[in-house]
Amino acid sequence: MEPRIVTLHDCQFSTYIFEEEILARIQMLADEINKDYQEKNPLFLAVLNGSFMFATDLLKRVTVPCEIAFVRLSSYKDMQSTGNVKEVLGLVDDIKGRHVVVLEDIVDTGHTLQGLEQQLLDKQPASLEVAALLVKPECLQHQIELKYVAKNIPNDFVVGYGLDYNGIGRNLRDIYKIVS
Ligand code: 5GP
Ligand code: MG
Ligand code: MG
Repeated sequence: MEPRIVTLHDCQFSTYIFEEEILARIQMLADEINKDYQEKNPLFLAVLNGSFMFATDLLKRVTVPCEIAFVRLSSYKDMQSTGNVKEVLGLVDDIKGRHVVVLEDIVDTGHTLQGLEQQLLDKQPASLEVAALLVKPECLQHQIELKYVAKNIPNDFVVGYGLDYNGIGRNLRDIYKIVS
């Protein structure tokens, strides 16, 4: 497919992962989850805002009975991680004894996820796993087990499919990377 360029604020981005590939990879994740979570009534925790599109497309393909909740937690400003882990907002469900699957848009240093996992583990879930749309393995600074990953990518700043650059770009159906 021909690359497409978009301009967001002061930066140019070029198509990187097309919707077709994203959806094919998400279907593979859903197949695994459907196998692993039969009879477990998992609780999916989608981390807003970035994971909204990933969560929607993944959960449409999850066929086991499940519950879905949305939490908010952000440690990112502009293009680099601040490392400040914030509180989990919006967690109303009691997760004690539940099989929890966190849905994340992208794991970069892993600070955000590490902080979130610690707060969730304090609440004693029966199990805790992560499904991430994108992971930048070169950037990981924590030993985090990522059980379900749609795609590993190099250390490039990406937008689209839920991911923003200073507030815009989340609605793009494909994933774009910054043109350097
Ligand atoms: P971490 O704490 O793992 O360093 O960063 C995780 C968060 O940073 C993600 O949930 C996401 O909000 C943001 N982030 C990391 N890399 C990127 C990127 O390439 N593009 C965008 N738009 N956000 C990113
Ligand atoms: Mg996120
Ligand atoms: Mg962001």
